[in-house]
Amino acid sequence: MVLMYRSNGNFEAFGRPLKPEGVDGRKAYFVGAGLASLAGAVFLVRDAQLPGSQITIFEELTLPGGSADGILDEHKGFIIRGGREMEAHFETLWDLFKSIPSLDTPDATVLDEMYWLNKTDPSTNPVRAIQNRGEHIEHMPDLTLTPKAVQEILTLALTREEDLDDKRIDEFFGEEFFASNFWLYWATMFAFEPWASAMEMRRYLLRFIHHIATLADLSSLRFTRYNQYESLIKPLVAYLEGHGVTFQYATQVLDVLVTDQGGTKTVTEMKLLVGGTTGGTEGEAGGSAGLTNGGEEQTIAVAPTDLVFITNGSITESSTFGDNDNPAPIVTDRGGAWALWKTMAERDRAFGRPEKFSEGIPEANWTISATVTLTDDKIAPYIERLTGRDPRSGHIITGGPCNIKDSSWLYGFTMSRQPHFAAQDPEKELIVWLYGLYSDKPGDYIKKTIRECAGWELTAEWLYHLGVPVDEIDDLAKNSASTIPCNMPYITSYFMPRAAGDRPLVVPEGSTNLAFIGNFAETVRDTVFTTEYSVRTAMEAVYTLLKVDRGVPEVFASSFDVRMLMNALYYLNDQKPLHEIPLPFGGRLIEKAALAKIKGTYIEELLQDARLI
Ligand SMILES: Cc1cc2nc3c(=O)[nH]c(=O)nc-3n(C[C@H](O)[C@H](O)[C@H](O)COP(=O)(O)OP(=O)(O)OC[C@H]3O[C@@H](n4cnc5c(N)ncnc54)[C@H](O)[C@@H]3O)c2cc1C
Repeated sequence: MVLMYRSNGNFEAFGRPLKPEGVDGRKAYFVGAGLASLAGAVFLVRDAQLPGSQITIFEELTLPGGSADGILDEHKGFIIRGGREMEAHFETLWDLFKSIPSLDTPDATVLDEMYWLNKTDPSTNPVRAIQNRGEHIEHMPDLTLTPKAVQEILTLALTREEDLDDKRIDEFFGEEFFASNFWLYWATMFAFEPWASAMEMRRYLLRFIHHIATLADLSSLRFTRYNQYESLIKPLVAYLEGHGVTFQYATQVLDVLVTDQGGTKTVTEMKLLVGGTTGGTEGEAGGSAGLTNGGEEQTIAVAPTDLVFITNGSITESSTFGDNDNPAPIVTDRGGAWALWKTMAERDRAFGRPEKFSEGIPEANWTISATVTLTDDKIAPYIERLTGRDPRSGHIITGGPCNIKDSSWLYGFTMSRQPHFAAQDPEKELIVWLYGLYSDKPGDYIKKTIRECAGWELTAEWLYHLGVPVDEIDDLAKNSASTIPCNMPYITSYFMPRAAGDRPLVVPEGSTNLAFIGNFAETVRDTVFTTEYSVRTAMEAVYTLLKVDRGVPEVFASSFDVRMLMNALYYLNDQKPLHEIPLPFGGRLIEKAALAKIKGTYIEELLQDARLI
């Protein structure tokens, strides 16, 4: 019997698995049409060799993609709830996209297209943070960690995961750490808040240790040509439709019934609500609401050989949109993602504790993002002044976020390569994305909390921090831009403090035909709030349930690579060699003795390579 295994290296990466036994005649059902489900369906077709005609994907919304959105809404304009920072070591993601034909570049896969684009237009961030209304912060290339703060990072990294149940980040770090550029860059790059899970923070430290050297310029990031709906989701859907996979939209999965016989768990039935109307306002495309009105209940019998993959929970469920003159309404109870997970977990705690992620979310929380469409050329010069880059050049502009250090919302903006939508008129329109990590304080120009702001007010606050003369701000925000606020009440749910067992295992113990996929399912070592995590859990689910004999590419092992560890130490101390790093009393003597001992050895060579000696 083949048990799921992880591997690295080209033998497994380039190998194509044999068709596993017992695939024929099986059916597969996916709850949700987000990235996790789309990836899972591809792995079923490509690796398990299950015909696409045997696969059905149920989605409560009227379009696929889930959180990975990007749409031209006919009433509101261009909308992205977010943009995805990706990197070279999203191993399963690239494994997926090496097989998906691009829709934009002839004879190329999506991976080819990404690879070529990032070679010809590599991403760097010229202005990671600003302050004092449009000035670059001091010491921008440095992480400004004190020895105490570095020690706190090491302490958390060296703590065992099982000792971090329900712990918060601020239980490990003091004021010096939170005042550092490291924290400013880290928090705003990944959306961490001081109250967030220390377990997740530790995973990030280990998983992204190879990013420490590039935190100030974000040159490790990789971006798609357009928004991720167009560049990633659409090609996936085209591939799956081409293989005969059925997409059933406007269908909420209300319940999945599982029998438990002596610990063997098998799905027997699914209950659906088909064809109801969405609870969102008209034109609320991009996926916000679930089905709240009407619809017809249906039941599907699931055979023991059939397979059910559930994306449990969603960070974009219940998201709502405002417009230039109105804030996004606050709603928390729409949609099926949390409801289904809660229903299942109440019956069986092996399916996790959804309430740990969806309830008690602190007020000082990121919930608002906004899409700004610049409609004339009056605002673009302020972006060019900061970045030194022409927004209409077609090249990378901010290369990830530029954050405002002295903003009470901890506000930030990103301008991706333009056009960011294929339908955009690059001569006229430019797209900017805004977000603020603290929703509990009034702004510095607009004296309201970020949640209370209409679109133009969000842009006005941003223009104030860019250094636009105060008497021009309101006019530019109202007449030179159109801004769509988006409220995502669960956006930081992935980072809620949690304990072992709060997320169900990808394949719960004893399960014969049920798997959980996405960022609320538990796999080892990888980090949530990533596209990679959705794809990884999908691959592990398919390989486990169908016994696919091919290694799942393991999480990039940077934290096991002594070269990377030394490099991180060098950059954590702002590129100082060992003899300049302050050591505790007696440390210098030990250092001297140790250096004498390693003289002429391979260890000395490694330290020299890392510029530590
Ligand atoms: C603002 C923002 C910024 C982000 N930044 C990054 C980044 O920088 N880098 C990165 O890698 N990732 C980033 N992500 C995360 C990444 O986009 C997500 O992790 C990923 O897209 C999640 O995909 P998923 O399929 O696991 O879940 P989802 O996208 O949540 O999909 C779940 C789908 O299932 C449907 N569904 C759920 N329950 C039911 C039900 N009962 N019945 C029917 N349908 C149901 C939902 O409607 C939804 O469409 C970001 C996400 C957001 C929102």
